[in-house]
Amino acid sequence: MQFSKRQEAILEMVKDEGPITGEQIAERLSLTRATLRPDMAILTMSGVISARPRVGYFFSGKRPNLMLAEKLHEVKVDAVKSVPVVVNDKCMVYDAVVTMFTEDVGTLFVVKEGGILEGVLSRKDLLKITLGGHEIHKLPVGVMMTRMPNIIYTYQDESVWDAAKKLLLHEIDALPVVRTKEGPDGGMGLEVVGRFSKTNITRFFVDIGEE
Ligand code: ADP
Repeated sequence: MQFSKRQEAILEMVKDEGPITGEQIAERLSLTRATLRPDMAILTMSGVISARPRVGYFFSGKRPNLMLAEKLHEVKVDAVKSVPVVVNDKCMVYDAVVTMFTEDVGTLFVVKEGGILEGVLSRKDLLKITLGGHEIHKLPVGVMMTRMPNIIYTYQDESVWDAAKKLLLHEIDALPVVRTKEGPDGGMGLEVVGRFSKTNITRFFVDIGEE
């Protein structure tokens, strides 16, 4: 994180003399407390300094890059996931391709009754079958999708870090976000409640950068 010259000066002061009050900092810099308020907000929000009521500001000892790592572990998939785009396993390949275009996603999840996860369709799955010369208006996606139990998924309370590692490890673009639920046949299934993709991670990084 890049601090301004004045913020660096405040940080040094807090490191050397903390705990130190806002009034004392303002006095040393010959500025008013109101002028310093945005700087103090940035320094406390970034986590490098902490404020204790009636005591003052003190150095937290945390480095900003350490804080980014902490954030990756702390923030859960639930906070960054998108709405899933799903089709039924009887959906024809042609309609799946159209859905991919109209919904503007790279991965479709195939579900049965009750939103229970059954399969995954990627861009290349659909390209391959389309190039294969099949009658894609009459061919259901169920015949070519990647299906359970081979699907890699994540839960809402899993960390962004762990979910991102699954994308890398399995060389895939997206994970269905699921929760366990009783299926139509009485057995337990995985209900699709979200989509976690490379785009979500990119947005997460851009948001951190803008904070
Ligand atoms: P693309 O086909 O565009 O390269 P992916 O890398 O995501 O997209 O998909 C590669 C293969 O992995 C496809 O056959 C797809 O069905 C499968 N796949 C995609 N996502 C998952 C997932 N979450 N779990 C298991 N297999 C997946």
